[in-house]
Parts: sequence; C-alpha cells; structure tokens
Amino acid sequence: MEKCQVCDCKTFTTFNKNEDSVLVECSECGFIWLNPLPEHEDIKKIYNNAYQNASSSYYTKVEKKMNRSKRRSKFLEKYIKKNSNIKFLDIGSNGGFMVEAARLRGHKATGIEIDPYSIKYAREHYAKNTFFEGDLESYYKNNPQKKFDIIYCSEVIEHLIDINSFILLIKKILDTNGIVFLTTPDIKHWRRPKDLKLWDAYCPPDHCLYFDNNSLSRLLLKFNLKIIKRMIAFKPGIKIIAKHI
Ligand SMILES: [Zn+2]
Repeated sequence: MEKCQVCDCKTFTTFNKNEDSVLVECSECGFIWLNPLPEHEDIKKIYNNAYQNASSSYYTKVEKKMNRSKRRSKFLEKYIKKNSNIKFLDIGSNGGFMVEAARLRGHKATGIEIDPYSIKYAREHYAKNTFFEGDLESYYKNNPQKKFDIIYCSEVIEHLIDINSFILLIKKILDTNGIVFLTTPDIKHWRRPKDLKLWDAYCPPDHCLYFDNNSLSRLLLKFNLKIIKRMIAFKPGIKIIAKHI
C-alpha cells in the first residue's frame, strides 16, 4: 500500500518487524497496518481456520453470553431517540447472541456473518431473526434501501483490508439519528504488553489494521461520523459509540 488509509499521508515508519510480518505506522495520524496487506484470497483461508475454533465454542457459556448481550443492548438504547420499531444490525454476528438479545428487547434484529458454521448455528438456535451469510458489501447490494438505528460491530474492523469502503457502507445504512457501536483492539493502550508478541490481539495476518483512539476518530470524521461516547477499557481495546455529525 502506498499511503495511509486513514489520512492519505505517504510517509510511514516501521513499527514492528519479525520473521514473517512488518507493521508500519503512519507519521501523520499514527495508524498502524500490516505491510503488505494480505490479498482477498488469503483472507478467506485465514477465516476458515479461525472460525472452526470459534464455532465449537458457541455451545459453552451461552447463558453468560446472552446476559452480556442483553445488558449491552439495553445500554445502547439510551443513545437513540426512538423507543419502538428499532432496527438493529450486528455486523460479524458470530453465533447470533447479540442479535437474539436485541430481538428479546423488542428490536427488529439482523445479523451479517461471513462464516457458514456460525450462520447455521445462529439460524438453528435463534430462528426468529434474519441472518445474512456474506460480508457487508454483499448485504448492501442485496438490501440497498435498508437503514438501521443501531449498528453493532465488535472486533471486526481489525480484520479488514479496505477500511474506507467499509465505513462508507456503515454510513450509508445508518439512519440519520442512529448510532454505531464499534470495538477494536487498541495498539497504543497503556496496558498493551510492551513486547507485541505477548499481546493476544497481535495476530497478523488475521488482524491487519491496528487502531488507536486518534486514528479511529480521524477515520470516522472523514465520513462525517462523530464519536459521542467512549467506554473505559481495562483491556487494551477501544469501545466507542458514533453517530452522524
Ligand atoms: Zn495516517
């Protein structure tokens, strides 16, 4: 990649280097990415491996996951003006827990997920929701006029190759008064292990984009999305709520 995806700056320096991967840091905004970025074909292979492990873990601690999802869903409702007919979307919906929790709170809930095993699990266990198998781009092509009041997107953006087209799509499907909840690892968090190799979120090429508070808010601002709430994170992660300016 020739330039920073966040600020278009063309100068960057090596942030971390090991045998098989190099992370570079933009001199202007501090955004960090794997250089070179993986190809689309490689990404598919990575996902297949990652998800086989994830899917088998869905069968444990379901109650705990569901309770956490319900609490989050209730919390997010405070940031929108509507209190009925709320349209909820989870991008990267995994086993469908968050989608089901939103439905139980009375929302019309949809999940998007690229992993067929997770989609199968979600459809079998939480059949009253809509689950779409594919990425956000293919969902949008199939449902160009759908808008959402709450978009939930947890631990997804660090996996992407093209962050600009993803955020542009979020902006398009986010209702004028809606909110987007985003989480991603924070590479500049004070509690991130100094030795990058000891950090569980450092996993190239699976995670290829590494944000901090500055680069993420700059990225969102470019699309006229403003952060309205930052949750304190004790683990090295960013949790924010953003909406249209
Ligand atoms: Zn930059």
